[in-house]
Amino acid sequence: MKFDSKCLHAGYVPENGAPQTFPICQSTTFRYRSTEQVAKLFDLTESGFFYTRLANPSVDMVEKKIADLEGGVGAMCTSSGQAASFMSIVNILGAGDHFISSSSIYGGTFNLFAVTLKKLGIEVTFVDNYASESEIQKLIKPNTKAIFGETITNPSIEVFDIEKFAKVAHANKIPLIVDNTFATPYLCRPIEFGADIVMHSTTKYMDGHAIQMGGVIVDSGNFDWEASGKFPEFTQPDASYHGVIYSKDFGKSAYIVKARVQLMRDFGCAQTPMGAFLLNQGLETLPVRMDRHCSNAEKVADFLSKRSDVEFVTYPSLPSYKHKDLAEKYLPKGYSGVIAFSLKGGRKAGQVFIDSLQLASLVVHVADIRTCVLHPASSTHRQLSDKQLQESGVTPGLIRLSVGLEDIEDILADLQQALDKAMKA
Ligand SMILES: *Cc1c(COP(=O)(O)O)cnc(C)c1O
Repeated sequence: MKFDSKCLHAGYVPENGAPQTFPICQSTTFRYRSTEQVAKLFDLTESGFFYTRLANPSVDMVEKKIADLEGGVGAMCTSSGQAASFMSIVNILGAGDHFISSSSIYGGTFNLFAVTLKKLGIEVTFVDNYASESEIQKLIKPNTKAIFGETITNPSIEVFDIEKFAKVAHANKIPLIVDNTFATPYLCRPIEFGADIVMHSTTKYMDGHAIQMGGVIVDSGNFDWEASGKFPEFTQPDASYHGVIYSKDFGKSAYIVKARVQLMRDFGCAQTPMGAFLLNQGLETLPVRMDRHCSNAEKVADFLSKRSDVEFVTYPSLPSYKHKDLAEKYLPKGYSGVIAFSLKGGRKAGQVFIDSLQLASLVVHVADIRTCVLHPASSTHRQLSDKQLQESGVTPGLIRLSVGLEDIEDILADLQQALDKAMKA
């Protein structure tokens, strides 16, 4: 099946007389007839559902679909994107370990890496997305266990050079983890470029309708934990499961099985059956939505770039975009719906612009079917001075615009009237 068909049919094939649509299995637990069988489930010598924190048929179906869409061997849904980022790292790193992350990443991920993981004894070094292979190599230490980056960065709209980072990761026998939230597997499939693990905030385009939180981790199955020699947790017996050896007993699925049976068991940030159902609803129309997000955003970027009150617009379709080669290589179908732009009038103009919008909504969200905006200087970054803003890469007039699926004429008319008011302010 081609990608668009998989969005509708992968993960669930109804049997004769079974429901046509993905059923919601609203049960916390599953009944068995013998203690012997339950014992086998607990020893991981047999697979089956027994408790929804670990696995549930509805969640399983959407996990199979996402694994297929990304081209991986398995996937695990989580209660949020933050949970997925956290578990994608701690499944391979522990206290005393180090990893490298692109510095252009989602603010929540930045805080998780720089502050919270540090408290747990995991150290990160941030690197510029455009650093050379040798510059990245210089940051590798004996205890470096992973590299992390975002396909399209939130909110700076840079494109992560997956092949470059994969090359350095693999030369050092460590995996590359890619957050593919903004691109979705429709626009980019990071595994094809060498990513070993892919994760998402499914809260964004995958769901797409702003109705439920979620995250997912996908295992490519390509990383050779045994050949690396750096990951004893994968290649030596796990006492909590009677000596299971993940790389030996689960082969290509070692990473994703370990994430589920150790981390989901212990942390419990599971997706719900209802959440999985809603996520699946979103995935069914992903290709159609993404095409329209991309084409609407291109038109909006073009419109903004022609206005004299706009300081700059960052969107890969524009001739002014700095790294067009990367955008064209990794995102041949389009660049998603998210645009960053800045008003010459600074903080005040940004505020008046947002307050004057009628169709586009002010929400702390992005990648939704409805056009939405955020002005970091008056919201998420409001406690920072103009100087501190510049240092964190956010100009006072920066606006993150997430272009929705409304008629393009309505979107442009709304932006135009709000910009005109901001200009006069
Ligand atoms: C929103 C977001 C996250 C965090 O996901 P939540 O579902 O909000 O927890 C992670 N990465 C990126 C790129 C995001 O946009």
